[in-house]
Amino acid sequence: VTDKINALPEGASYFSLEFFPPKTSPGFANLQGRLERMSQALRPLFVTVTWGAGGSTATKSLELAEICQRQLGLTTCLHLTCTNMSRSLVDEALEQAKVLGIRNILALRGDAPRSEEYREHGQSPEEDSNKDFTWAIDLVKYIRKQYGDYFCIGVAAYPEGHSDESHPEHQDPSFDIPYLVEKTKAGADFIMTQLFFDVTAFDKFEETLRNHESGVFKTIPIIPGLMPIQSYNILRRTTNLSHASLPAHILNRLDAVKGDDELVKQVGVKIISEMIEHIKKRPSAGPRGFHFYSLNLEKAVSHIVEECSLIQQTVTADEGAIDFDGPDILL
Ligand code: FAD
Repeated sequence: VTDKINALPEGASYFSLEFFPPKTSPGFANLQGRLERMSQALRPLFVTVTWGAGGSTATKSLELAEICQRQLGLTTCLHLTCTNMSRSLVDEALEQAKVLGIRNILALRGDAPRSEEYREHGQSPEEDSNKDFTWAIDLVKYIRKQYGDYFCIGVAAYPEGHSDESHPEHQDPSFDIPYLVEKTKAGADFIMTQLFFDVTAFDKFEETLRNHESGVFKTIPIIPGLMPIQSYNILRRTTNLSHASLPAHILNRLDAVKGDDELVKQVGVKIISEMIEHIKKRPSAGPRGFHFYSLNLEKAVSHIVEECSLIQQTVTADEGAIDFDGPDILL
């Protein structure tokens, strides 16, 4: 991923798309068709494949990663969580990723470690069966130790602060930053953020990281995570789950059309496109990237990347001419 980012011309922008493995075979077949259309028409710099916490989707995640990397030739980044998973499952996932030719891992913690749950339930942390991995940094260090520089490693960050049961009292980015410094120093190559709708929170977060006294965030790619608005209900549910705030000026625009799904999507495309144009205007330490939580859907994200001119142009080998195809797949 970072080799591809570094190879982009100065001032270029890029984007990546997240997909999750469907539960059923027909779901897989559907997604494969959609992936083919999206990869050809939209040309993301890379795609990412989610990993169910605790390894719950291990086989299906690897299957989807194989389709992306091997069959579609897409640069693929496999998400991998480390808590509540046996070390052998982590080893298997990394080995399998290597066999598939995958060179990128998004190293995550996943659910809060079991020991925290045990504490909550009055049990002793000693009863936790997996002491190898407590935080994402443990996975970053482990990958570097086992595989050296073979994998390009991404890590997660939270412009509005991370919130979960392990520390419900601190949803504040300043609580997380010292840990993000350590996680980055341990070997992260890029940072990908949680979804957000409050661009001022992202501006502030990015500025804080870039100017951090440690200097570790000076040039590392910081890729903002954006979720195209698919429906009013999905939006409310995902913002609740991710603890992302919905600024009043955005909520008002969506509230005004919430009875009409098609209008919600159209207004949503405008909202996300405005966020992208705002972020594009900010100084950037390199090419400016955007990551889309696609929810495996193509229409909204296709409109957004087209509207914001994020689709890479390609030079055809025979003519040396620019061959630009806009997305013709807006189903
Ligand atoms: P960490 O970096 O370990 O941080 C977790 C929290 O603990 C932070 O608040 C941090 O400040 C704090 N912390 C870190 N180290 C310490 C320490 N030593 N002492 C005290 N506190 C500490 N989940 C999935 O299950 N599957 C996925 O595919 C997935 N993909 C994701 C993709 C992105 C881009 C993002 C942003 C999140 C994703 N998640 C996924 C969710 C993620 O697993 C959760 O948010 C998880 O609760 C935290 O993961 P982390 O990697 O940020 O953990």
